[in-house]
Parts: sequence; C-alpha cells; structure tokens
Amino acid sequence: MNITTNNITINKSEASKINQIDFDNLVFGNVFTDHMFECDYIDGAWVNPTIRPYGNLSISPAAKVFHYGQAVFEGMKAFKDSNGDTFLFRPKENFNRINSSSKRMAIPEFPEDIFFEGLTTLLKLDKDWIKPGIGNSLYIRPFVIATQVGVSASPANQYKFMIILSPAQAYYTGDVKVVIAEQYSRSADGGVGYAKAAGNYGAQFYPTNLAKEKGFQQVIWTDANEHKYLEEAGTMNVFFRIKDSLFTAPTSDRILDGVTRKSVIALAKKAGIPVEVRPILVSEIVDAANSGDLKEIFGAGTAAVISPVSAFSYKEKTYTLPEMTKETKYATKFKKDLMEIQYNIAEDSFGWRYPVN
Ligand SMILES: *Cc1c(COP(=O)(O)O)cnc(C)c1O
Repeated sequence: MNITTNNITINKSEASKINQIDFDNLVFGNVFTDHMFECDYIDGAWVNPTIRPYGNLSISPAAKVFHYGQAVFEGMKAFKDSNGDTFLFRPKENFNRINSSSKRMAIPEFPEDIFFEGLTTLLKLDKDWIKPGIGNSLYIRPFVIATQVGVSASPANQYKFMIILSPAQAYYTGDVKVVIAEQYSRSADGGVGYAKAAGNYGAQFYPTNLAKEKGFQQVIWTDANEHKYLEEAGTMNVFFRIKDSLFTAPTSDRILDGVTRKSVIALAKKAGIPVEVRPILVSEIVDAANSGDLKEIFGAGTAAVISPVSAFSYKEKTYTLPEMTKETKYATKFKKDLMEIQYNIAEDSFGWRYPVN
C-alpha cells in the first residue's frame, strides 16, 4: 500500500515481524522494527521523505561513505507509559546535535520539520514495538551517510538520512571496570570528538579491546596532549563523586555534549547536590581514591542511562570503589529520577518529555 501523508510517502510492510520477536531476550541493537525512514539529499535539497519496510539498501561500492567516512548518527529512545502513551526525551537536543555533527563532517544539515515528522510518523506506525514497563524502550538511531559515487577525496553532493528503530530492554551490564587512558586518545583539540561521527567509534575499538584483554570493559579517555585530565568514556560522559560533591569535565571540541550529562547536572542542582563542571586531573581522582573520599564514578548516556563504575585502573594499579548501599548512591538516584520522567511517572518540571501523538 502506498499512501502519502504530509509529504511523507508511506509504503507499509505486508505483515509485521513482531510475533517472531522474543521481547524477553533482546540483545541490544540486534532486532529492528517493521519500518524505516529515509530521505535523500540530491541537487542541494532533502527530497523524497519515505517510510518503507525495514530492509537492505542498494549502494554503489564507490559511495563516498565507504572511502572517506562521511557518516554521523544519533541515539535516542522512545518510552511508553502505563496508559500506552509514547514519549521521547529531549529530542530537540538530538536534532540539534546531528546537525552540528553533520556540519563538522561537511554534510548538509537536515530540516527540523522533516526530522520530527519522519520520526513521529515512523514511531506511530511501529508503536506496538514500544513495550510498556520500566526499562523497556525503543532505541532510535537516526544517521546520515554520503551516497555520492566517486572515490575522489572531497565532500559528497548526495546523502541519505535514515531512521531505524530497535526495541531494547533495561540491560544490566553489571558494574563496569574502566581503564584510564595513558597512551591512546579518542579526540584532540580542533578535532571531531564533540561530533557523533562514525569514525570516532571505530577508532576506539582497538584500545578498548586491549583494556578488555586485561579484564576491563571500557576506557576513560584523557586529554590527548598530556593524558592528565579525565574526559569521557566511549559512548558516555563521566561523573565523579568526591565526598558528596559531583564533578564532570566541561564539554569542548573534544567531548560530546551528552543529553544525559546535562540532565544529570540539572537534576543534581535541583536536589541541592554540589556540582562542579571543570577540568578534573587524573591525580585528583587517584588521591581521592587513596584517601577514601572518592565515593562513586558513573557513566551517563542514553543507552544505559547511568552505568556505575566499580573500579578503575591507572598506571598498572587497580583502585576499587567503596561498596555503597543502593539507596545512598547518586547513580541510583539519577537513574531513578531520569526514568521516572522518561516513563511519565514523575512530574516533568523541566519540560523534557515530548509526547508522540
Ligand atoms: C552519545 C555519546 C554520549 C552520551 O550522549 P547522550 O546524549 O547522553 O546519549 C557521550 N559520549 C559520547 C562519546 C557519545 O557518543
């Protein structure tokens, strides 16, 4: 069936795959819904916004994305409350960020009206894939790739913007052990660290594998010049709790401006928790760990919301964080506060919920 609503051509799938999915045993990011959204950039304009059945693309092997890495993405989630109503969390932030990522990669910016119309139309079509219940969500992956054919090293003049959707469960990775980077770097001054550019992630896999071989799951990156200042993890910003104060690095052209990060800062301020946004020396954290003042480290990002860190390694020494009861952990508080807003349980005093109706 082909129908066109508000300029979006909708080509519905013949039959839903939803009954074949085991929603109790989802692996993050492996299953996709029935439909996807796409829109092409041709002759200087974004054209042909279309929703069609999820499926493979046909792209030339000479498309520039494969050779020069012009690719950016976003990560956001949709949630369903107990009445079956669907909400996004601060989606305008993701929209703005995909365009700032695009700008840095010489990719044309995407129009706001098509972004929101495409996204909400797609979510309404695949709404049965969003399961109610705390922890269940639909992970949303918008992305842009350069599709122009040609292996000359120059920005493409054709692109494809897409949105794909993947049902997700709360996942308990257990506490995360991290390595503080001493040799490799994620980003540099003047570079692309603040962008969700595909190559930023590929470049982290090798040093992260080295950390995994030593029994750690993630790397906390430090500044590329001296490896003296703590920056962020692979896909999460990082917070440190020393005594009862919270510390996180300022955003810059090396650090991604996470939506979860800025939400945690706002929630902390509202709760009267002292927050310092300033450069944090590795040596401060090591000293605080030695004196017992370091109470918590946690990552903040859309996928896991809040990930508590149980230990970190630096200069071949492992520092274990103190055991704290769940009730006294800031990590527990912020996760609960965020999820209660996301699932329409708590009052939304910041105006972060975005109903999809
Ligand atoms: C996506 C991402 C984050 C977290 O951002 P959110 O908007 O909170 O999901 C943090 N750091 C990096 C490098 C990221 O890619």
